Amino acid sequence: MRLDLNVPLEDGRVADDTRLRASVPTVEELLRRGATLVLMSHLGRPKGAPDDAYRLGPVAARLSELLGREVRYLATPGPGSPEQQAFVAEAPPGSVTLLENTRFDARETKNDPELARVLAGYADAYVNDAFGSAHRAHASTEGVARLLPSAAGRLMLREVEALSRLVDGPERPFVVVLGGAKVSDKLGVIESLLDSADALLVGGAMAYTFVAAQGGEVGDSLVEEDMYDTARDVLERAASADVPLRLPPDSVCAREPDPGAERSVHPSDAIPAGLKGLDIGPAAREAFAGALQGARTVFWNGPMGVFEVEGFDAGTLAVARAVASLAGAYTVVGGGDSVAAVNRAGLADAVSHVSTGGGASLEFIENGDLPGLAVLRDDA
Ligand code: ADP
Ligand code: MG
Repeated sequence: MRLDLNVPLEDGRVADDTRLRASVPTVEELLRRGATLVLMSHLGRPKGAPDDAYRLGPVAARLSELLGREVRYLATPGPGSPEQQAFVAEAPPGSVTLLENTRFDARETKNDPELARVLAGYADAYVNDAFGSAHRAHASTEGVARLLPSAAGRLMLREVEALSRLVDGPERPFVVVLGGAKVSDKLGVIESLLDSADALLVGGAMAYTFVAAQGGEVGDSLVEEDMYDTARDVLERAASADVPLRLPPDSVCAREPDPGAERSVHPSDAIPAGLKGLDIGPAAREAFAGALQGARTVFWNGPMGVFEVEGFDAGTLAVARAVASLAGAYTVVGGGDSVAAVNRAGLADAVSHVSTGGGASLEFIENGDLPGLAVLRDDA
């Protein structure tokens, strides 16, 4: 079984167990049905080799608490190692075994068929419940599924159902809010949403690439100069599709995103040299909240500013509150940082669906499918 147990660790403990909790229902269901489970997940970005900072020991400990039963775990060199094969071979019927980080071996991200073969040898069937990793065709997310009878888990199904409502004829008006650091990360989804959304609100650092591409002065804000042509092209396409693409009229600026930094508000296209736009400004908060009023469907990905730092979180919180206040609308928040912001604001219960996948939710909206999903459907 592939899960997305990629959680933040702090001092050798799981700092946020949201993804572990989300994984529990499918695990429990399979145990009730008599399965012996071998679980696999990646954690962080080790460089294709064992790295003690990314061992899954703390995850096994927390998962064991959540399940109220033993989770067998052995720190091994990597996926498919002889130590691991021996450990899996000793698993008692009905037990739960968690394998070491799948990314301790460079063959994982290369979707190496030999590694997939060894992993597939651990089991009689494969269940993928790792929605957050389904946009990657790796050995543990895609290769294994080719070799065993396979199925999607409950979390995977719930995510696909929730996000499909955005892709298949969303109720209108459909308003999309995009933010975060880079335009290049989200270009594909912007382009596909131009065909379906009624309005696009763009904040975060991304906005400054659009502003600068049109000749605005953005000071020292984060921009992607190699994206200026693309940004102008997107603005033109939005205009010809009659989809308003709204940028923040003003920005909260400072020299650096430090808690004590001196802050000032400037028009987003007239930010003085030496200052960075680090959050959308008060006029933008009002404009974006206003544009969300009356929406029947909302998709939000990416914070409006450096929300992790006090003093630069007002824009993100304003959008969170505006989305959460839409009674009767279908609202979806996706993306690690956006979801963290909604959780911090205590508003997770007020949105219709909080996606566990960042990149995966964007790619699903862009393409209507994911490699880790398609391979399950192909199963004979
Ligand atoms: P998500 O995880 O929700 O998909 P991203 O990872 O794309 O979001 O972007 C989140 C990051 O973008 C955060 O670390 C945030 O600090 C950063 N960010 C947002 N606005 C700005 C800005 N104006 N300048 C610099 N960084 C920003
Ligand atoms: Mg992120």
